[in-house]
Amino acid sequence: MKIFLSCLAVLAGLAGPAFGQQRTVYLTFDDGPLTGTANILSVLETESVPATLFMVGMHVEASPAHEALLAKAKAMPLVTVGNHSYSHAHDQYRHFYADTDAVVADLERANTVLGLTKKPFHTRLPGRDVFRLPDFSSDDFSIGKAEDNREEPDFEFAAAEGFYLYGWDHEWVHDSRGKPVQSVEHLLSEIDNLFSHGRLVKPGKLILLMHDEMFQDSYDGTSNLTALIGGLKAKGYAFGTIESYD
Ligand SMILES: [Zn+2]
Repeated sequence: MKIFLSCLAVLAGLAGPAFGQQRTVYLTFDDGPLTGTANILSVLETESVPATLFMVGMHVEASPAHEALLAKAKAMPLVTVGNHSYSHAHDQYRHFYADTDAVVADLERANTVLGLTKKPFHTRLPGRDVFRLPDFSSDDFSIGKAEDNREEPDFEFAAAEGFYLYGWDHEWVHDSRGKPVQSVEHLLSEIDNLFSHGRLVKPGKLILLMHDEMFQDSYDGTSNLTALIGGLKAKGYAFGTIESYD
C-alpha cells in the first residue's frame, strides 16, 4: 500500500498541478500604441504576467501620449515590445509585399522609432501569419500559394536581417470597429480545445493574437482582459515571454 501511494505521488508530481504537460499561453497585442494600450499595460502590471506588444512605428509617432505608452511598455520588465512594421503596409498588403527591399526598410524604420537595437528583433509582419524562427518556419497559405511564393523572398530576407517572425495559433477576433467578438468564456473554451486537440504550431504553446483597440474603455477593455488572464490562471496555464517561445 505504501509503495502504491508513493507511486501515485510520483505520477502526480510528473503530471503537475493541472495538465499532463506544461501549457503556456503567449499573450500578444498588435497595432499599438492605440486607444486601449494604456488599459492593457495597467492590467499586465496588476496581474504581473508577461506579454508582447507588437507596435507600429507610425502609431508611436502619432502623439506624445503614444510615445509615452511606448516608453511605459519598454520600462515594464515582463513586457516585450516587438516590431509590427513602421507603416502597417498602409493596409495594402499585396502592394507592400511586392517590394522586398521596401519591406525590410519599413521594418528597420520601425526598429529606429521603437528603439530596438539588439538582434533578434521580435517581429510580427502586418497582415501575415508567418513564422521565421531558427528552428521553425511556416508561411501564410490563407493568401494562396502563388501569392505566398511571391512574398517568400520578403520573409527570407527579413529573417536573414535578424527579424524573428511570429504568427499566431489563435485570435481573439474583433469586428470592424475593434469590438471583441467572442466572450471571455467562449475564448477560454476555445483555448482549452486547442491544447487538448494539439492543433498548435508548437506542442504545449499557444500564441494568442489580440489587438490593442479591443481593450478601449467603451468595450470594457480592462475587465475583459482581467477576466481572460484570471481565467487562464485559474485553469493552471503558464504565461510565456516571446523570447522563451523559440
Ligand atoms: Zn496589425
